[in-house]
Amino acid sequence: MPTWNDIRADFPILHQQVNGHPLVYLDNGATTQKPRAVIDALVKYYERDNSNVHRGLHALSMRATDAYEGARTRVAKFINAADPAEIIFTRGTTESINVVARSWAHAHLRPGDVVLTTEMEHHSNLVPWQQAAKASGATLKYVPIVGTNAEGGLDLAALDTLLTPQVKLFAFTHISNTLGTINPAAELCRRARAVGAVTVIDAAQSIGHQPLDVQAIGCDFLAFSGHKMAGPTGIGVLYGRRALLDTLAPDETGGGMVVNVTYAGATWKPAPERFEAGTPNVADAIGLGVACDYLDSLDRVAIEKHDGDLARLAYEKLSTLPNIRVLGPTGARGGLVSFAFPDVHAHDVVTFADEDGVALRGGHHCNQPLMRKLGLTSTTRASFYVYNTAEEIDILVASMRRTLKFFRG
Ligand code: PMP
Repeated sequence: MPTWNDIRADFPILHQQVNGHPLVYLDNGATTQKPRAVIDALVKYYERDNSNVHRGLHALSMRATDAYEGARTRVAKFINAADPAEIIFTRGTTESINVVARSWAHAHLRPGDVVLTTEMEHHSNLVPWQQAAKASGATLKYVPIVGTNAEGGLDLAALDTLLTPQVKLFAFTHISNTLGTINPAAELCRRARAVGAVTVIDAAQSIGHQPLDVQAIGCDFLAFSGHKMAGPTGIGVLYGRRALLDTLAPDETGGGMVVNVTYAGATWKPAPERFEAGTPNVADAIGLGVACDYLDSLDRVAIEKHDGDLARLAYEKLSTLPNIRVLGPTGARGGLVSFAFPDVHAHDVVTFADEDGVALRGGHHCNQPLMRKLGLTSTTRASFYVYNTAEEIDILVASMRRTLKFFRG
């Protein structure tokens, strides 16, 4: 395992000044930076192998196909899927969840059914279920959060009454992008399975930060984005249990996903091709495979500890600032921390931090209902990754003190 300083050297973008200060990149919840190995893989693909996949019999097409399918196998191993055919390449978490909401939900939801989700979901794991419920006549219900700052996480006791046999699908986030809450994914899936509900996990904020084993978790579907795990933008994954995928109609139709087409109709290939109509994002899938190699070379247990430790340290240090509200769990948390000052808007906080070279995110973080529930319109979020250091948290806190001094005098 390299030292954390060696790891920093792997990310070319970090070695720059912003507004006269060394860049302190703490916006990893939005997107992570890319190591040289991933950037090189993209360049190499376009310089040597670029070709369309699956349908070509020439050397470049065969190389591109091997590399694309190799990436699928690599991703399957990364999340311990039983079969590479369970890995569908998409544009990202949002598209992955929409595929389930359209393909599975349209086929299975009926009036009177319940779709269960939680009060802490990102819009990507909320709006598609609202749409699916509306289209089918199903009802959408929410597992409540506990505590004025949601420090108690999900109300697991409420699950006893919410998880009825009417629940056909339970969609929840693994780690909240605003609160940092780590939900007990395996327990939630076990309890959902007991009432016959299908489970969908939004793993956007966990995939790059910890080991993840879909078989141990026992989920039916799991969605994530390459760009939040040191991989490229524009590529993501929908994992689906094979037995379920083969019962689903395709979400999109066109080239590449059909067995036979006549003027009268068409028949579908099995998963994963059934869900990958058209030319796929070959280069970025290959880049994602290399990101898997990179994260495994660092040791994902060590990454989980590193990012979690930084988030807890930030939680402690930020909590010493006067009149601050820090959201989420007081103990173990994912690699991020959100906070709010009653008298300084998050956009001002982020703008001042940028003057100090610190990249943060301010706003509702695609969590508008959660913000409303907590009586907030926005928060500032600092989110950490493998290249961040404890010194950068001191720079963050110093920047917050400067901001508060300006606004409060
Ligand atoms: N869910 C969560 C928890 C997220 O943090 C994000 C990204 N902000 C998404 C879903 C959506 O991911 P993407 O924009 O890559 O589709």
